[in-house]
Amino acid sequence: MQIHDQSHAHPDTIGVEEGTPPGGLSAAQAASRLALDGPNAIPTARPDGLAVRLGRELREPMALLLMVAASISGVLLGELLDAVAIITIVVVNAIIALVQQGRAQQALEALRALESPTAVVLRDGERQVVPAADLVVGDAVEVQAGDRVPADIRLTVTDGLEVDEAILTGESMPMTKRAGGEVDPAVPVGDRDGMLHNGTLVQRGAGRGEVAATGSRTVLGGIAGQLDDVAREPTPLQRQLSGLTRWLGVAALVAAVGMFALASFSGIAAEEAFLTAVALAVAAVPEGLAAVTTVALSLGVGRMARRGAIIRRLPAVETLGAVDVLVIDKTGTVTENRMAPVAVISPDGTVLPPEGAPPWLARAMDPIRVLCNDATLVPPTGDPTEQALLEGLDPDVVTAQRRARPRLAGTPFSSDRRRMGSVHLLTGPEDGRGRHALLMKGAPEAILPLCRDSLGPEGPEPLDVEGLLARGHRRAQRGERVLALAMRWLDGDAAGLDAVTVASLETDLTLVALIALRDPPRASAAGSVAAARDAGITLLMATGDHPATAEAIAEEVGVGSGPALTGVQLREVDVDSDPVSVSRYARVEPEQKLQLVTRLQAHGHVVGMTGDGVNDAPALRRADIGVALGATGSDVAREAADMVITDDDLATIVAAVREGRGIYDNLRKLVDFLVTSNLSEVAVMVGTLLIAPSFGVPLFPLQLLWINLLTDGLPALALGVDPY
Ligand code: ADP
Ligand code: MG
Repeated sequence: MQIHDQSHAHPDTIGVEEGTPPGGLSAAQAASRLALDGPNAIPTARPDGLAVRLGRELREPMALLLMVAASISGVLLGELLDAVAIITIVVVNAIIALVQQGRAQQALEALRALESPTAVVLRDGERQVVPAADLVVGDAVEVQAGDRVPADIRLTVTDGLEVDEAILTGESMPMTKRAGGEVDPAVPVGDRDGMLHNGTLVQRGAGRGEVAATGSRTVLGGIAGQLDDVAREPTPLQRQLSGLTRWLGVAALVAAVGMFALASFSGIAAEEAFLTAVALAVAAVPEGLAAVTTVALSLGVGRMARRGAIIRRLPAVETLGAVDVLVIDKTGTVTENRMAPVAVISPDGTVLPPEGAPPWLARAMDPIRVLCNDATLVPPTGDPTEQALLEGLDPDVVTAQRRARPRLAGTPFSSDRRRMGSVHLLTGPEDGRGRHALLMKGAPEAILPLCRDSLGPEGPEPLDVEGLLARGHRRAQRGERVLALAMRWLDGDAAGLDAVTVASLETDLTLVALIALRDPPRASAAGSVAAARDAGITLLMATGDHPATAEAIAEEVGVGSGPALTGVQLREVDVDSDPVSVSRYARVEPEQKLQLVTRLQAHGHVVGMTGDGVNDAPALRRADIGVALGATGSDVAREAADMVITDDDLATIVAAVREGRGIYDNLRKLVDFLVTSNLSEVAVMVGTLLIAPSFGVPLFPLQLLWINLLTDGLPALALGVDPY
């Protein structure tokens, strides 16, 4: 412990004193620090011990009532056997409840473990993706829009970085961060603009920095105890059920008093009448309801998790079953999200095979394909669109190029801009000297209007914007995604360039080529679409892609018919018309997805919706069931979602909706059973006394309690886990 404390006497200065090398820590350094400091994780509150939980069960009103009855019959009436038997029943009941709760708890914890975050670090000079738990102080970490910050980080490089720190400060407006800003721990968290804090969400831009604190030594770690555990919030059904239980409790009390009066009236001894009344009260309340419900819910949730659908909040299970409209992405959900180039279109409109570009064209295309790109092919990481652009290039050359010509500034891709820019020092065309260039790629309609001319074998040539757009359109009609590649040389150096200034340079580009990529529909897609239809779910496909691409893919898998409505057209459509009348939406920006969800809800639909980007978060939050695509999605989207799909597959979502419906049905059966079986116990007792008072009490109190214990719990459990 002593060593541990000393090494962290000045955690903020470690990086400075030892000077983290430019290539990041070495693997050995990282391993030894990890051994010293422990994992970068915030320990969760230890669950209460068995005794505490048992004590809580015994303080339940039913248990208290029975214990009072036991003491009265034991001490006052001298019926020791009765007293012991009642106490036994109380304990057995409590143990059953504990076992059920234990199972529910385990299921919830297993779910949480599935959501293990990762971080991008520079170690041994290599960019690596490591589990966030392995980060150590001094690690050089990169974050970008969409990420959840994995530790407390002192920023060294920033690029238009804006961060949502609401989790720490309650302030929902994103805060701008800058390298070299305030890092003093004495300053309030909300004013430390040179620091990133664990658990906050990057909304915009990118940044790099050095880990200053990990795990429980981060600001978040310090307040972790105060954070609510969302997974433990009760579901609407559970809330309804506890209302029902309370109501039945009152009814039971009334029945018990009536029973006592009735029994006394029939000439039954007072003590027997009293015990009978107590037993009746206990029998009338379906005490197992809450626990059995939780077990049924969490078993279902566990089943979904094994199929790749992770429920982030238990209440979502019930809403899931009620979903009647699903708004889905095209890319990855309907298609495989494994794109491959199928053609290169040279600036004069010639269509070439993917590897068929002449040398002058390939020389211009390759730097854009490699450098205006954050993906890697080996191993496959990053955006599939970007992976496709690397297809056919030597991975070692790609790595070497990126190291030799690092990105100096850039504008990240976003679905509303539909393009991405990146500034590098390249070798100039005329003199062979180093010159800065802005390399760009994006949707043809986003790039072509920014172009001044196009590339030819001998130099710049006039650009035929209309002709090329028409070509792109024809490719899109076959379900292909077309990207335009363009570039410009920059005057001067790259000093002081950031996302904002680069964006202002995105004009006067030279068009280099169009590349057509094809992302085939998943083999399972048509089947999932049909399954959704059979289940009565209306599917709407909303994509950022070109309308022609959207229509072609929708046609192939059977989503809707007719032309796609674009996001812009959606704005002009009559607000009173139900959006489900159109099922294909294209060129939809995230903000229009939000509009679509809102309109659907206004027409009374329960809406499920998929999303992956930072900008999808508001729509995901707004939807009744936000589904984040786990394979490609950002942390921000995941945090906003109710459910995360690990394989992005539509089939998984449809299966999850089915599962949700099944669980809900089982719970309804279970409630019906428990309420009716308890009522019949009351009927047996009260009915007999009413009809034939001379028969006396039909069941002794202990018999009633015993029947109640066995006939409530077991059949209810069976019903709760019934196959659908
Ligand atoms: P989707 O919802 O189908 O995934 P996106 O919003 O991701 O659509 O993409 C919209 C358009 O932006 C695409 O049609 C493509 O032209 C362009 N695009 C997609 N990814 C990139 C990228 N990484 N860089 C540049 N442009 C891209
Ligand atoms: Mg996309």
